[in-house]
Amino acid sequence: MLHYDVLVVGAGLSGLRAATVASRSADVAVISKVYPTRSHSCAAQGGMNAALGPDDSWEKHMFDTVKGSDYLGDQTAIEILCREAPDEIVALERMGALFSRDPDGRLAQRALGGALFERTCYAADLTGFVLLHTLYEQSLRHGVKVYPEWYLLKLIVEDGVCKGVMALDLQRGQLEVIRAKVVIVATGGYGRIFRKTSNSHSCTGDGMALAYEAGAILSDMEFVQFHPTTLYGCNILISEAARGEGGYLLNNRGERFMDRYAPEKMELAPRDVVSRSIATEIKEGRGFENEFVHLDLRHLGAAKIEEKLPQVKDIAIRYAGVDPAEAPIPVQPGQHYSMGGIRCDEWGQTNIQGLLVAGECANVSVHGANRLGGNSLLETVIFGRQAGQRAVELARQTRWPKLGPQPLAGVRAYLDERMPGQRGDRPGTLKREMTGLMMDKVGVFREEGELEEAVAELKTLRQRYEAIRLSSNSLAFNYDLVTYLELGWMLELAEVIAQGALRRTESRGAHYRLDYPGRDDGRWLVHTYAQRSDDGLIFSDGPVSITRFQPAERGY
Ligand SMILES: Cc1cc2nc3c(=O)[nH]c(=O)nc-3n(C[C@H](O)[C@H](O)[C@H](O)COP(=O)(O)OP(=O)(O)OC[C@H]3O[C@@H](n4cnc5c(N)ncnc54)[C@H](O)[C@@H]3O)c2cc1C
Repeated sequence: MLHYDVLVVGAGLSGLRAATVASRSADVAVISKVYPTRSHSCAAQGGMNAALGPDDSWEKHMFDTVKGSDYLGDQTAIEILCREAPDEIVALERMGALFSRDPDGRLAQRALGGALFERTCYAADLTGFVLLHTLYEQSLRHGVKVYPEWYLLKLIVEDGVCKGVMALDLQRGQLEVIRAKVVIVATGGYGRIFRKTSNSHSCTGDGMALAYEAGAILSDMEFVQFHPTTLYGCNILISEAARGEGGYLLNNRGERFMDRYAPEKMELAPRDVVSRSIATEIKEGRGFENEFVHLDLRHLGAAKIEEKLPQVKDIAIRYAGVDPAEAPIPVQPGQHYSMGGIRCDEWGQTNIQGLLVAGECANVSVHGANRLGGNSLLETVIFGRQAGQRAVELARQTRWPKLGPQPLAGVRAYLDERMPGQRGDRPGTLKREMTGLMMDKVGVFREEGELEEAVAELKTLRQRYEAIRLSSNSLAFNYDLVTYLELGWMLELAEVIAQGALRRTESRGAHYRLDYPGRDDGRWLVHTYAQRSDDGLIFSDGPVSITRFQPAERGY
């Protein structure tokens, strides 16, 4: 049996940042279901925020983040995020990540939505790619053992203590148990629960669902970010950097319609506001083909597009046949980010001893009800580092955990239980139904009747899931099995999202209820906690940390 002081699940930016820090004084391994540099972090385009400008400050960054979160973000955590951002940029540069520069050699910064200043550092529009490759190199340099295409199946939690994981090596078709003093889950978001999403196929929320299954608290799951500009047809992201560099949004009358919704910030209002504005234009007949609006970059000129937005240009040409220097890009809102996640403190600690979390799967609550562009990459590295440091301290104080009898037989039984017979639906059929249902009924606009329907339909899908049919019960590269497992976890999370959205009878940030259009601080200035019990899903409320900025009306 393998054993490590610290086992990290997930090789995105948060997992690798945690691993590089922990590996300085502990024996560390990382497992990842995709090859590390294919983690979704690699797709991040726009950049990472840090207050560097002469008139900017971490306090202003903090204010923008708190306001952007619609006052639901925890201010103790947001303070760490913003105060430590400038040093983290320097640390990443020292590791070898080269950020774009101004002509005078200073770090270049661009504007993203909801910010008072140009505050986002970037490497052209390939920021995630550059950072992920840098951190992967650093992990290898620091002797981190990496297991690519190892698939987390279960967190081993006994007597309230996490003692390791069960995993499947997809290449060899081999089941493995890894014992660890500390497990850090950094498995990213669940975007694939929704039909239209900018997220990679691997973003299926596995770690969130497995932690929930093991007794961890999920919080604020009803807050789902819809990005305003995903490419019509395939929903690949067209980065906010396109608007940050000066792009316009136009309806079918050629109007820059954002002046009706956010007259000051226009296209650079926060994402929840811009997504609702686009959805309203389309709903009221001012979109194209009742499906999309235009993102116009033509006035930026071919040279600027080439220099600042090469990936946006490439994506538009390849996937929509549109050269943005010559024609506007068709865009529509699509799921983009999971604000909610596994509840943790500023050190990544959950309610389960020995289980830490970081990145998009975690909810330390720096984004509250709505995340600002450029703050997620920042969260992955700052709180990945925090978790890595804490993991080392915990591992020092912890003895090797003793596992219950025959853990491998346990894994086999676990999978056998899930190897269904020759009846029922195929996993892909159910997945299509679930993603469509979540998009239509738990999307940008929500209301009681549709949410109740969604909850009921998810229950039916769950029953059909129990009788699913697989084409093979082999363990090696069996993607039918993988889809099946992921679907089960997504159905679990979808229920928490839909139930949470039904329960929260107000509108705040990305959660917009047509039947409760106002924010209700009296009742709902609280985090939503969801936990699994023998009687099913139980909700409760948790306090919000408010230190510097009192809740106020949020206008742009
Ligand atoms: C297209 C796109 C563009 C974005 N642009 C920006 C941006 O410009 N700025 C910004 O701040 N944010 C941006 N974001 C958000 C940001 O990139 C992500 O929130 C962040 O990178 C997530 O990092 P992570 O480390 O938490 O997870 P990920 O990078 O998603 O990595 C998850 C890891 O977990 C592993 N994993 C998952 N399940 C399992 C399992 N069952 N077993 C084993 N391993 C598993 C995966 O293999 C992967 O290695 C963007 C997001 C998208 C989708």
